[in-house]
Amino acid sequence: MYHGARPGWIEVIAGVMFSGKSEELIRRVRRGIIARRRVQVFKSHLDARYAGLYSVSSHNGTEVDATPVDTAAEIFRQVRPDTEIVAVDEVQFLDRGIIEVVTALAARGVRVIVAGTDTDFRGEPFGAMGDLMTVAETVDKLQAICVICGDLACRNQRLVDGRPARYESPTIMVGGRESYEARCRHCHDVPRRDEDQAVLELRAAAR
Ligand code: ADP
Ligand code: ZN
Repeated sequence: MYHGARPGWIEVIAGVMFSGKSEELIRRVRRGIIARRRVQVFKSHLDARYAGLYSVSSHNGTEVDATPVDTAAEIFRQVRPDTEIVAVDEVQFLDRGIIEVVTALAARGVRVIVAGTDTDFRGEPFGAMGDLMTVAETVDKLQAICVICGDLACRNQRLVDGRPARYESPTIMVGGRESYEARCRHCHDVPRRDEDQAVLELRAAAR
């Protein structure tokens, strides 16, 4: 945990799916509650079916409600004036306004903890995660375990009907039939269309 002399900073917990980001976020929130800080937890979500409150619970029975939000502005509107810690899970799904929101909260003395998947299924930057990592005081990048080789996993493998999803498929598939696995760089597989592959090889040859 970052210990600034004055309150107000940003902590990012980044990494692939299954790397333990939510566990780490919950751990920090729980410790904040033990320290009797006023905490608010938000979770970005894309699916209107989960429009109720969701809660994060601790071993000793402490529970903290998390408010589902669709936009960064909703977080800003809902943070109470006396809140000391703001935590946001699944932050990669939020709009780029989140950078301004976390910066404004930190400036007024709030400890901001955000957790999110920093790379999409292609292994490319996901949403505002890269910029959030830039403006933060601390960045913890977690790894999962590659389900193919057992090495450390830094990629999200998207599978559609059990097969690797193609590069061209959309970044966010809402209500899709896809599933995800944690994989290392070498076991990660994102097939491209043949013509794309040819262009890549031509570019490589021209270098
Ligand atoms: P995240 O928020 O990063 O998706 P969670 O905190 O929800 O991660 O879950 C982390 C937990 O997932 C681990 O403690 C472990 O029990 C479980 N898990 C399942 N598959 C894997 C994997 N391939 N590598 C590591 N942990 C995994
Ligand atoms: Zn591997």
